[in-house]
Amino acid sequence: MKRPIHSYGDPVLRAKAVDIGEIDDTIRELARDMLETMHAQSGIGLAAQQVGETRSICVVDLPAELDTDEDGAPDNPDTVMPMTLINPVILQSGKDTSTREEGCLSFPDIMGNIERPWSVTVRYKDLEGAEHQKEFHGMLARVLQHEIDHLNGVLFIDRMSHVKRLALKGRLKRLRRETEEALAPGEPRA
Ligand SMILES: [Zn+2]
Repeated sequence: MKRPIHSYGDPVLRAKAVDIGEIDDTIRELARDMLETMHAQSGIGLAAQQVGETRSICVVDLPAELDTDEDGAPDNPDTVMPMTLINPVILQSGKDTSTREEGCLSFPDIMGNIERPWSVTVRYKDLEGAEHQKEFHGMLARVLQHEIDHLNGVLFIDRMSHVKRLALKGRLKRLRRETEEALAPGEPRA
C-alpha cells in the first residue's frame, strides 16, 4: 500500500529514527509499503521519516544504468536491487569525494549539488535479520548516505553550500509554509 510522502516542514523529517528490534510483520509491511511508495514516485531511495515513521529503515532501488563508473562498468557488481536496510550505520567513509546533483522526494522540484564521500562502509540488517557489513561505491554510496542522513534527521539541504541554500531560501520557505498549512487544516489563512 502506498503511503503519503511527508514534505519539508513536517517535524517528522527532523526526528531521529529508533533502532528496530524484532523484524515482525509490521516491519515487513512497512518495507513493502516504502518500496511501493518510492517506485510510484520514480524515486531511488526512501527513508522511514518520509512516510511519517521513526523506525530505522530505508529502501533503495538504484537502476543498473546509474550504478556505473565513467567506463560503464558497474560500481557495485555484487549488489542486488531493491535493497531494504534495517538499522543502517556508516562505519567508515572514504577520503575521495564527488559532487553531484541530488533531489529528494520530500522536496519536490528542488535540486542541488552535494559533495559526499565516494565510498562508504555500511553495517545493516536485511529483512531476514541477517547482518551485513559492506563497502559501497559511487552513486549507490551517495544514495545510502542521503537515506542514512534522513534516519538521523539530517536533510540534503543541510549539506548544500551556503550560497545554494541562500538561493533556495524563498522556495524552501514556501514549501515549509505549504506543509505546515496542510498539517493544520481548517485554520484560517491570512
Ligand atoms: Zn531524501
